[in-house]
Amino acid sequence: MESEFLGWLRPRLAPHPQLRLGPGDDAALLRLVREHECAVTIDLLSDGVDFELGTVSPRRIGHKALAVNLSDLAAMAAEPLAAVVALLLPREGAGELDRELYLGMIPLAEKFGLCIAGGDVNCWDGKLAISVTAFGQITARGALFRSGAKSGDKIVVTGEFGGSILGRHLDVEPRVREALHLQANATLHAGIDCSDGLSRDLWQLCEASGCGAIVDLDKIPIAAAAHELNRQRNDGMTPLDHALADGEDFELIMAVPMEEAERLERTQPLLESACGGTRLTVIGEFIAERRFWSRDEAGVMQPLIPRGFEHVGWSKPPYKVFGE
Ligand SMILES: [Mg+2]
Repeated sequence: MESEFLGWLRPRLAPHPQLRLGPGDDAALLRLVREHECAVTIDLLSDGVDFELGTVSPRRIGHKALAVNLSDLAAMAAEPLAAVVALLLPREGAGELDRELYLGMIPLAEKFGLCIAGGDVNCWDGKLAISVTAFGQITARGALFRSGAKSGDKIVVTGEFGGSILGRHLDVEPRVREALHLQANATLHAGIDCSDGLSRDLWQLCEASGCGAIVDLDKIPIAAAAHELNRQRNDGMTPLDHALADGEDFELIMAVPMEEAERLERTQPLLESACGGTRLTVIGEFIAERRFWSRDEAGVMQPLIPRGFEHVGWSKPPYKVFGE
């Protein structure tokens, strides 16, 4: 990092008990707790793919770039520890943009006790790209994997789904407190965060666990934004379709033993603001058969096709479509 930017940045970063040395040397130094595993995750966001720089404030982009990493740490039930940030800036206006991006990240980092340990900034003739790598500490209860769902477990989700494009996809609220509270106080078998679409991410969890699922369509918590999107776009997608496929909800999807799931839904432990203030909903169950079903209010089942965001460069969908 250039010294002028460092001089601006350093006083804005709060001290952190595990950060021995922050930005300014050749590398940062973190004090790690012995025996605890460290979760590492990275995301790369770019102008034109994940946001439109001309239409969104850089602070919101900075917020999102860090928040999506925090969401991945939450999905592993990791306590946020540190992040390093790589910025590739368009040459014009670079001096303003780097500061604004950091001003979007810093409040979120403070909220979740994560230190920004360092980073790099470069300019070029292309569009903005921002990549954040985040580190998290696994607690004594261990990490939460995608691979632990068992037949008979309930599908439990935080929050609401659909229509994130109307704003939530930028103003991401990572479910860190929710995940840590549940991992410490409940029995969870598996978890994933919803980035690519509820049906698609649920199916990824099934694939990793070697099981299938039945989704109760009338139980899915549909966000008001999904209804709004349905009104705005006359494209044949219902609010439920949006909830199942839109993605970037950044909610948690978990496999929870049946009785535990019923208890969580009844007691709603996450409604306490210290635990995130989020509602938990049971939206179906995992089954041994590796198939994916929807079930309506009358109990009628139909094959459910996982839909959601397709990553550029994937030659084929990462799921198997049954019944075709
Ligand atoms: Mg994820």
